[in-house]
Amino acid sequence: MISQSTVPFIDLKSQYKVLKTNIDARIQKVLDSGAYIGGPEIAELEQKLAAHTGTKHCLAVASGTDALLLPLMALGIGKGDEVITTAFSFIATAETIVLAGATPVYVDIDKKTFNIDVKKIEAAITPKTKAIMPVSLYGQVADLDEINEIAKKHNLFVIEDTAQSYGAKYKNSKSGACTIAAGTSFYPAKPLGCYGDGGAIFTNDDKLHIAMKEIREHGSEKRYYHTRLGVNARLDTIQCAILLAKLERYDWEVEARNKIAEKYTTAFIGLEKFDPMFSTPLVKTGNVSVWAQYTLTITNREIFQKKMQELGVPTTVHYPMTMPDQPWYKANTPLNHDITNSRWAANHVISLPMFPDMTDEQSQTVIAAVKTAVEFSMKAM
Ligand SMILES: *Cc1c(COP(=O)(O)O)cnc(C)c1O
Repeated sequence: MISQSTVPFIDLKSQYKVLKTNIDARIQKVLDSGAYIGGPEIAELEQKLAAHTGTKHCLAVASGTDALLLPLMALGIGKGDEVITTAFSFIATAETIVLAGATPVYVDIDKKTFNIDVKKIEAAITPKTKAIMPVSLYGQVADLDEINEIAKKHNLFVIEDTAQSYGAKYKNSKSGACTIAAGTSFYPAKPLGCYGDGGAIFTNDDKLHIAMKEIREHGSEKRYYHTRLGVNARLDTIQCAILLAKLERYDWEVEARNKIAEKYTTAFIGLEKFDPMFSTPLVKTGNVSVWAQYTLTITNREIFQKKMQELGVPTTVHYPMTMPDQPWYKANTPLNHDITNSRWAANHVISLPMFPDMTDEQSQTVIAAVKTAVEFSMKAM
């Protein structure tokens, strides 16, 4: 029997209720102003996001995908170039590399953090390598110190995919502030989400900032004067207004997510007794995750997921396939390095409900369900 979920996977509606007065007023202001594209909220948001991240520049863009594509285009990465990235991410990571005209070079992940295994990067560098695009998956920043060191040695750009890690801490910096450019996403279900598609790019480089700004607007240096190939990657004013309201509460939300993660992790101690493959997320010293996902590993995922559903708790798999195993990528992009850990993760990861307004009752429901379902998933074999 499949019962109705008693806990949502993510609850955007209750978050809206909390912020309604602020959000509604800000949207109304934009509606009254008529500046639906290019309104003053854009610069205001860019300044606030740059300050919050600790970077000199921020550019609001139409999606996380654009936020990765624009830096590649602006850095002149394209035909004949290779970009090293992880094998285990949402498809947009590899997609933007291909859209820019370059070839993605997939490197395996560290099984503990699910981020690119820095020990395997150098073996993937060739004379064609131009950049490394690490992904800070599930909310935890990748090993950027080591990646930056390798990049410096081989004269490569580093572009951090921060679509899942906006606001995450890395040592004394924040996600997005440690590389020449970084792109994040404001897709509604991301840690900082708007009410549609959206994204932002971060950089400390003045020239790159100008180039990306021009590319965002059809490659125009000034109105109707196009000196570059560009795209339309503007973020509309209403989304910026929503993000300004949501940013006010964001640091509190990150703390709330961390408290839920801590509750989960503490409650799950000992479950490896039932399933030797069971693991809770590892956050490395020096990192503060924003918990885009709280992701377990488990032996019998299908049985576990079905049992969780019966117990009223939805779960999701991020991601059931590696990027190079996706049909189009398998046919059109080369796979030259071992990706055993990435394929293992694709078969065994499972994410639990995670949202800042989760009540104690809801987290206790999730915890009880996981305990039951882990034991059940092994006995059922
Ligand atoms: C969501 C996501 C993207 C793409 O962001 P969109 O806003 O959906 O275009 C890119 N990379 C990763 C890792 C993501 O999770």
